[in-house]
Amino acid sequence: MTHGKARTLGRAEVFKRDWLDGFAGAYGRTVRKVPDAYGVVAAHAPERGKVAVVIGGGCGHYPAFAGLVGRGLATGAVVGDVFTSPSAEQVYRTARAAEGGAGVLFSYGNYQGDVLHFGLAARRLAAEGIDSRTVLVTDDVASGPADEPERRRGVAGDFMVFKVAGAAAERGDDLDTVHALATRANDRTRTFGVAFDGCTLPGATEPLFTVNPGEMELGLGIHGEPGVRTVPRLDAVGVADELVNGLLPELPKGGDGRVAVLLNGLGTTKYEDMFVLYKRVHERLAAEGLNPLHTEVGEFVTSLDMAGVSLTVLALDDDLAPLYAAPCDTPAYRSTGARLEPVAPVATVDESLARPEPTQTAGVVDRLLTAAMVRIEDNEAELGRLDAVAADGDHGLGMTRGMRAAVAAARQAESGGADLSAALLAAGTAFADAAGGASGALYGVLLAETGAGLADGVTPTTVADAVDRAVRAFVELGKAELGDKTMLDAIEPFRTVLREQAATGTDVTEAWNAAAKRATQAAADTADLLPTKGRAARLAQRSKGYADPGATSFALLVSAIGDELAKEQ
Ligand code: ADP
Ligand code: MG
Repeated sequence: MTHGKARTLGRAEVFKRDWLDGFAGAYGRTVRKVPDAYGVVAAHAPERGKVAVVIGGGCGHYPAFAGLVGRGLATGAVVGDVFTSPSAEQVYRTARAAEGGAGVLFSYGNYQGDVLHFGLAARRLAAEGIDSRTVLVTDDVASGPADEPERRRGVAGDFMVFKVAGAAAERGDDLDTVHALATRANDRTRTFGVAFDGCTLPGATEPLFTVNPGEMELGLGIHGEPGVRTVPRLDAVGVADELVNGLLPELPKGGDGRVAVLLNGLGTTKYEDMFVLYKRVHERLAAEGLNPLHTEVGEFVTSLDMAGVSLTVLALDDDLAPLYAAPCDTPAYRSTGARLEPVAPVATVDESLARPEPTQTAGVVDRLLTAAMVRIEDNEAELGRLDAVAADGDHGLGMTRGMRAAVAAARQAESGGADLSAALLAAGTAFADAAGGASGALYGVLLAETGAGLADGVTPTTVADAVDRAVRAFVELGKAELGDKTMLDAIEPFRTVLREQAATGTDVTEAWNAAAKRATQAAADTADLLPTKGRAARLAQRSKGYADPGATSFALLVSAIGDELAKEQ
């Protein structure tokens, strides 16, 4: 959480003016500014004979509202100051610019300021002979009891209602029909949201509100209104369950199960996180007998930089389904109007993610790699920290993933009768596949080539030969040179000592442990290295004093294997 500094770039006094100018400039192909108002209309508006759908509210909610203006959705949007309703004058001017003689459908979230100003504007239009109707969006189940929908505020469900209204207007429906359909869409739309952290107003130095670390707020609004309940922070499944549980009792009864679903990000929640949530949301909805036909995951109605998500469900019927799916083209949302098809997330079975537990009956590669896996797991955080000094911080996680997959693959191979050589080959392939990244490919090659070099049995000489072979393949692939501050700076001394030991007539365990000891020292010594070329060079200065992560993991790995070898004796 960031405290004590502004989190948006805009200056408070001119925020609305500046972003609106930039927006209209960027999307001039789709929208244009109303010359004398803080509002935009679709580039093709006004259109004779079609109802104008005019939406709006305070800003800070983009894509709502201006981003949803364009063919097939809203005809115009009025823009107020941050979290503040636009004035009646602004609503009036925008509506005048949007309307084409068939009347105006106003739709916006149910907030008192908006109701008053839009209401005044409607009276003024009426006085000039322009007919209008209004649909207040009241989808937020947390803001009032079910039997008093007029107390409920509008949040992400705005999008559902605007979409239906815009499609009906585009089709040429008259004002009463557009009004009736949009009203029905609102009646059948429900939203429930959670927040992980608050938002900061432009120019402000403190967030409008905060959520304690380790907690989350259920049922929060989109202007920092308090939630209905504070609960301990949940994992993805827990959050998805809260969202679904919050909505289920509220869904309109008597539908045929077809629903449009919107998982909406409130400002700073990652899209990838939202998809993680959606996976569970879909499972839950399907388990309840619902049929999610048309799903959107993304930002539709945000709340500045608030961290959180909301789940909106629109219970479709034969009239609403084609309207919701109809084509549209706006700056923030486009749809080709493809038919609504049920699509279930494909469940992936990912066995390599499971941690193989050490077993008594393990084969030799399984046993040695399990020891290495445990050592890597114990040092995962440290490897991540070292990698974060000058790079992306993923080395610890990657190594743990890789080692688990390598152990699982070796175990499977050995239980199927594979010898040491074949088991190492399988482990190398699995490591590279699971770990990814530079080190994933490089360790994969080291394991697999060492395995290939041990096809004729294990002696100090065959081990030294196999490691030679592996290092040659490693350098061919990665092009590292000594002193570049990579794994090679630990691998090369390891290789040299193994060769020396093989010549003295010691056994494999002793030779290996002598080499591992040297590798450990060499890995520590990489802290002093300052690479002058290659990918690390750019951030070399920053890494001064810190050991190379790959060299460190290599030393851990060979040391753990050496310790395990020594146990046998
Ligand atoms: P990535 O660099 O893709 O994020 P990791 O963080 O898992 O992969 O691994 C980083 C380590 O990989 C480095 O510390 C270095 O030891 C090693 N490494 C990266 N590129 C090379 C290379 N071309 N040759 C040898 N080792 C390399
Ligand atoms: Mg990395």
